[in-house]
Amino acid sequence: MTTTPHQRILIVDDNPSIHDDFRKILSPPESSAGLDAMEDALFGPTKPRASRESYELDSAGGGQEALEKVVQSMQNDRRYALAFVDMRMPPGWDGLETIEKLWQVDSDIQMVICTAYSDYSWEEINARFGAADRLLILKKPYDTIEVCQLASALTKKWHLARHAHLKLNQLKGMVSEQTQQLEITNQKLLLEVQQHRAAEDRYRLAETGANDGLWDWDLANGKIYYSTRWKTMLGFADDQIGDSPDEWFERIHPDERAVIEQVREDHFVGKSDQFRAECRILHRDGQYRWMLVRGVAQYDDSGRALRAAGSFTDITERKMAEDQLRFEAMHDSLTGLANRVKLSDRIGDALCRLKRNSEDRFAVMFLDLDRFKVINDSLGHLVGDKFLIEIARRLAGFIRAGDTLSRSSRDDVARIGGDEFVLLIQDVQHESDVLHVAARLHTALSKPFMIDDHEICTGVSIGVAIAHEHYGSVTDILRDADTALYQAKGGGRNCTRIFDPEMHEKAMTQWRTETELRQAIERNQLVLHYQPVMAADGTLAAMEALVRWQHPTRGLLNPASFIPIAEESELIVRLGRWVLRTACRQLHEWLRLFPRHNGLPVTVNMASKQFALPTFVDEIVRMLGETGLPARSLRLEITETVAMRDAHATMQTLLRLHTLGILIDVDDFGTGYSSLSYLHRMPVNSLKIDRSFVGSMADDNVSRSIVQAIIVLAHSLGVSVIAEGVEKPEILHLTSAMGCDFYQGYFLSRPMDAADATRFLETARPNNRNVQQSAERLSKPNAA
Ligand code: C2E
Ligand code: CA
Ligand code: CA
Repeated sequence: MTTTPHQRILIVDDNPSIHDDFRKILSPPESSAGLDAMEDALFGPTKPRASRESYELDSAGGGQEALEKVVQSMQNDRRYALAFVDMRMPPGWDGLETIEKLWQVDSDIQMVICTAYSDYSWEEINARFGAADRLLILKKPYDTIEVCQLASALTKKWHLARHAHLKLNQLKGMVSEQTQQLEITNQKLLLEVQQHRAAEDRYRLAETGANDGLWDWDLANGKIYYSTRWKTMLGFADDQIGDSPDEWFERIHPDERAVIEQVREDHFVGKSDQFRAECRILHRDGQYRWMLVRGVAQYDDSGRALRAAGSFTDITERKMAEDQLRFEAMHDSLTGLANRVKLSDRIGDALCRLKRNSEDRFAVMFLDLDRFKVINDSLGHLVGDKFLIEIARRLAGFIRAGDTLSRSSRDDVARIGGDEFVLLIQDVQHESDVLHVAARLHTALSKPFMIDDHEICTGVSIGVAIAHEHYGSVTDILRDADTALYQAKGGGRNCTRIFDPEMHEKAMTQWRTETELRQAIERNQLVLHYQPVMAADGTLAAMEALVRWQHPTRGLLNPASFIPIAEESELIVRLGRWVLRTACRQLHEWLRLFPRHNGLPVTVNMASKQFALPTFVDEIVRMLGETGLPARSLRLEITETVAMRDAHATMQTLLRLHTLGILIDVDDFGTGYSSLSYLHRMPVNSLKIDRSFVGSMADDNVSRSIVQAIIVLAHSLGVSVIAEGVEKPEILHLTSAMGCDFYQGYFLSRPMDAADATRFLETARPNNRNVQQSAERLSKPNAA
């Protein structure tokens, strides 16, 4: 039980005896206190006991003092519950005034106003204090019981009111604390809502802003939320796509569907960290778009996927760029045909099939345009490029139209070098199949091409390798086809050769020869032989230098067995320099030995590569300077084909040589295609009729007519004529009767080594006509 503290009562009265009276009435009797102590001793302090009010009495002699005490009680927090206030306390404040003042300080004090007279009526008092439920009136003289009742009731009332007040305050405090708490919570919530909203806005912004389409899959109900962007990426409006997984998976390209579903399932059972795949998805326009699909799943405790979300990224452009790059890496940029890399791939595949099934035979065809270089040089690279593009177009068309090429694709035609094309021919059963295809190719390519108003005709050489299962690699097949092509090129225009192992042998020999020839030049194994050029009167007009190779094991080799090989590379240039220098030195030696031959020139054969060197003329000048030979002692032979190949450039070189005084003969005349207008303007000294016409003119009317025509032509152009390959006396007579100027051939003299040639010179009679004759021609106005 809580012990109520003593309630404080203030007695305010100007009469001290009244204070004593109140003390007697309200103080507990001594005996009762002693009884209580005994009771506590007997039954213990916890025993409940009827409450007996005990008050702490305080006295004030007037209103002023009372006010001071109340003020003090407030400061000490020992407040008065009740005050008995005398009505009349002259000369100080009267009772009502005092009460008024006291209440201003502590409005909770219960008041009893003590009065003997009706100084104020109840109504008056009421009017003054309002509905004063805190004020009672006690009439004098006091009744003891009445005082006790008033004290007890009013102090209790004060206590209850105070308790209620405290409770209320406490409650108010609690409420305000709660309210504050609520407010904080509210603020926090508001903040959270705002943040949430911002996040949502950001998400929505990101969703619309991002190029990615989003999906969110609730695996419990099997529904997928697809974002608007997801739908527009596939060409659909928001309401045209539902929430079924089919909207997605039914649109995957059939080739990729199974794989994608596998990747997805793997992730849904936790085998992968992420669901990620690239696949084609059908757009509303009927085309497929490449998408990068990404997603992650959430799992429950048992590891089962509950939900998955992710994105779609359109990677079509990247894929197309990749395809383009891949295409470019595999194709020739000029013609769009497959390149060597792609071709090797295709042949590799074909070889694999062949190894699995020996029926799957195929052939590789190497094509080389016969006159591409001429076209390129004479008409320019732009025309050359257009020409190649046209060739490519014709070949591609040929492959498409080919009835025997049922399995061929566009990538079976490749361009692997300047004018080198390769065809992969599938489904080859016999050699005759290949020859049939080759014949059709020749026909297809022999039709003229119209490029920028130029009508261009070309032939093509074809080398073929027919594959068999013993081929080890693609390279081997290509090598053999190339070897066959090399043979085909040697076989004249529009020629086809099918590879056979002998060719390989031959090719190997050639390769060995090239290596050995390189050494031969360094090791001085080359020698020059000399063949005289005679005039009709038997005088010596010139000596032609003809190279030989004193091979350490194979003996003396004729130029036919190594010159063509040397011509394939830069070797011919080195060889040519050696020949020139050696011939000049030799002639210089002869002129020293035989001064009467001072008009004798040495004739040197020029290869086209040599002639095309930009430094060619300078080299000749240097060589003449070194050997001390006059320019008129050197005659150069170029073949008709070389002369006409790049007629304009040739003309420039010939003019420079002519200015120096060097004479030019056109060799093998009649085998090439001369432009008469060029020939007419070229500063040449003589035409050498090819020995094939000369050799056969005795029994061949056509050859005889040709020889006759060349002689007439040469003379009309003001140049002399040499007949080479004169083997029999009747040929000499025939040509001489036709007016030929000079002769060369076994009948007159075989080519001789230097020693024999020197002996020949000892007895030979010099001829000076050619010098005079050319001097005559060069003085004519049309010569240059
Ligand atoms: P070419 O310039 O037409 O030389 C004439 C060839 O005919 C020589 O063959 C010669 O031995 C041969 N010959 C001469 N008279 C007769 C004959 O009455 N009947 C027959 N059937 N042949 C005869 P060779 O020396 O074997 O030269 C062959 C070719 O090699 C030459 O043909 C020339 O084109 C080339 N050649 C020779 N030496 C050189 C050289 O130093 N440099 C270059 N670039 N080519 C050379
Ligand atoms: Ca010659
Ligand atoms: Ca010749």
